[in-house]
Amino acid sequence: MEVIDAIARAIGPDRVQTGDAIPARHRTDWSGAAPVQPLALVRPRSTEEVSAVLRLCSAHRVPVVPQGGLTGLAGAAVPGADAIALSLDRMNAVESLDAAAATLTVQAGATLEAVQQAATAHGLQFGVDLGARGSCQIGGNLATNAGGNGVLQFGMMREQTLGLEVVLADGSVLPMLRPMIKNNTGYDLKQLFIGAEGTLGVITRAVLRLHPAPRARAAAWVALPDFDAAPALLGRLQAHFPGAVAAFELMWRDFVETSLRWQKLREPFEAAHPFAALVEVVGRDEAALRDALEDVLGNAMADGVAADATIAQSQSQAQAFWKIREATAELPVHMHPPINLDVSLPMREIGRFAQVCRAAFDARWPAHHSLFFGHVGDSNLHITTDGQSIGGEADELERIVYAQVAAFGGSISAEHGIGLHKKPYLGASRSPAELAAMRAIRQALDPLRLLNPGKVFDL
Ligand SMILES: Cc1cc2nc3c(=O)[nH]c(=O)nc-3n(C[C@H](O)[C@H](O)[C@H](O)COP(=O)(O)OP(=O)(O)OC[C@H]3O[C@@H](n4cnc5c(N)ncnc54)[C@H](O)[C@@H]3O)c2cc1C
Repeated sequence: MEVIDAIARAIGPDRVQTGDAIPARHRTDWSGAAPVQPLALVRPRSTEEVSAVLRLCSAHRVPVVPQGGLTGLAGAAVPGADAIALSLDRMNAVESLDAAAATLTVQAGATLEAVQQAATAHGLQFGVDLGARGSCQIGGNLATNAGGNGVLQFGMMREQTLGLEVVLADGSVLPMLRPMIKNNTGYDLKQLFIGAEGTLGVITRAVLRLHPAPRARAAAWVALPDFDAAPALLGRLQAHFPGAVAAFELMWRDFVETSLRWQKLREPFEAAHPFAALVEVVGRDEAALRDALEDVLGNAMADGVAADATIAQSQSQAQAFWKIREATAELPVHMHPPINLDVSLPMREIGRFAQVCRAAFDARWPAHHSLFFGHVGDSNLHITTDGQSIGGEADELERIVYAQVAAFGGSISAEHGIGLHKKPYLGASRSPAELAAMRAIRQALDPLRLLNPGKVFDL
């Protein structure tokens, strides 16, 4: 095909694969979306090569689907049959690290884990962490504005980003790599590309912020009498450990019971409590941290905010607490299939929202198996339901939940993005005026609609 030959001539035939030479993994992502064979897989090695590819695709009117580590859960990196899949995997260098300024410059194809390791080697840490760290790429993390484990302390990818280099659909390069926090020079263009799921430009490099690595951690398992105790306890923890509450994971009873059963683990307390929170705080000295945590939790119990609490006396006990929370790794084994919903709501409303959703599930599918859990401290609630237990009616489940998200003023996607999967429901979280503004931005930056078409919304 003409465009593929032109790309091979421009950047070298070793950068281009077609037909059966395209590895199967580039046909879909982790979401389980149906695989699609793209026209070609192109794997450039530099920003100049990305620019040349986009210029040629623009001239030939051929769509381009950027691909990172393909761990996305919304189908956003699945190629079209008429599109070039553009993988950033060969642009994977951590280019430089400035320990004094706590910044790092990286190519978009580096894995999240490579960035974390580079930071750790200098006594620093990167603020974003998630289960797919070994495979997902910084470009994909930026394009999805990934969240994960550290959000309570550091925010999402957006908050870690000082600068970006982006190639637009016509091949022009935006060199927005200035490593300063303060830069009020008109529109903050880089923010447009964070969370845009590859629909506005291809991210090629980034300047990221780093943070001092903590010397000590302390974890506790806390039983709560009701949902309202969760924000109350979190507020107390934030007041006593300002900027140092690293985790506040809330689990409804159904989640705890299921996790213990699946993993054959023991309950931390004798009695069954309606909610459990896994709390982690960081600081300089482990013994002092544990003492301070004991104080806060003791007071919370005295005031009825906590029903019971136990502080991990060792790292292995802390890991045992985390194992209960990480039952999510077991979901694909025990549910057929798991239907994962990832929503966010004003924090105080999460308890009532969960009640309303559960009542609606009970009414329609009396034997449904659903788990409610979430980061909660950052307003994120996950609901996972066994597809078999609702007779495969995943669409109806989504309709019920997203209607409630709209009623409660929440978001249908806390961190996984819209991609293909949530496209039909975007209107539940975005007003017609917001959607019109999004379309206008898309039209301005990619008038031929060649970048990841059909994802997030249809034009
Ligand atoms: C086990 C597991 C745990 C997870 N946990 C979390 C979690 O806690 N929090 C969370 O937020 N997500 C989580 N995810 C989802 C996923 O890992 C994230 O969305 C991740 O940021 C995707 O990165 P990726 O490189 O795999 O991107 P891909 O899946 O390859 O692509 C995702 C989107 O980004 C675009 N894109 C990729 N690279 C670029 C680029 N260079 N320029 C422009 N656009 C680009 C693609 O076109 C697509 O729209 C998890 C996934 C798995 C499998």
